[in-house]
Amino acid sequence: TIMTDTARLLEAASFAADRHRDQRRKDVDATPYINHPLDVARILADAGVSDVEVLMAAILHDTIEDTKTTAEELTERFGERVCSLVLEVTDDKNLPKLERKRLQVLKASTKSADAKQIKMADKISNLRDLKTPPVGWSEARVGAYIQFAEMVAGGCVGVNPALDRMFDDARMALS
Ligand code: NDP
Ligand code: ZN
Repeated sequence: TIMTDTARLLEAASFAADRHRDQRRKDVDATPYINHPLDVARILADAGVSDVEVLMAAILHDTIEDTKTTAEELTERFGERVCSLVLEVTDDKNLPKLERKRLQVLKASTKSADAKQIKMADKISNLRDLKTPPVGWSEARVGAYIQFAEMVAGGCVGVNPALDRMFDDARMALS
């Protein structure tokens, strides 16, 4: 059956909400995890992105990395392009965390333009969230995360000027 773009977007939101249902953000209020993927998609829409498959991939961006969701499932439900965008922004979970971060920085500039926009929006969302930092984070750790986000964003700039500006604003608001 043919689904409208709106129906596909809501299908992705509903799927992600279900998969992330037992997860929380790291802030003191333990915000439901789904708020973050929805925020990433909203940031993209706010920056003028209207390609529904990019918005769907944003909503689904942490499902493979952080839940039991497989690439096959995403392809089956949402199609090849959405799945391949999600895979482009998914870390290799077999690697240790520090190595995953190093590779995110190294590989950012090699991603497709659409994946770069999702990565940029993800970093904007996380920098905005640092207004209430994860429980137990020292100022040094917050600073280290900001530096990491800046390095990833450095590989993703130049695709969407509105996103570039939002990143700078989120960065400035923290200093
Ligand atoms: P991070 O330290 O990278 O935590 C940041 C991630 O948490 C974000 O990318 C985001 O991921 C998610 N997140 C959830 N809630 C928030 C929030 N309120 N604000 C911002 N981000 C939020 O993740 P891990 O704990 O998984 O990684 C540990 C890494 O940190 C290791 O590499 C270790 O070496 C390093 N580390 C550094 C220390 C330091 O002082 N510099 C101390 C200890 C460890 P998403 O978008 O995926 O949800
Ligand atoms: Zn994320």
